[in-house]
Amino acid sequence: MGQRRSRGRVYRRCGCQDENRKQLGPWCPQLIADAKHGTWTYAVDLAP
Ligand SMILES: [Zn+2]
Repeated sequence: MGQRRSRGRVYRRCGCQDENRKQLGPWCPQLIADAKHGTWTYAVDLAP
């Protein structure tokens, strides 16, 4: 696959959507309220 970088981060996201049917992803407020809400996702930050 692509390049491997040591830089990355782990965050939670879920399938919740806002009133515009846009996925909240890691910004869902329930993720803060409930530690078991959503699923863990690993993301590589390619920003310099
Ligand atoms: Zn959620």
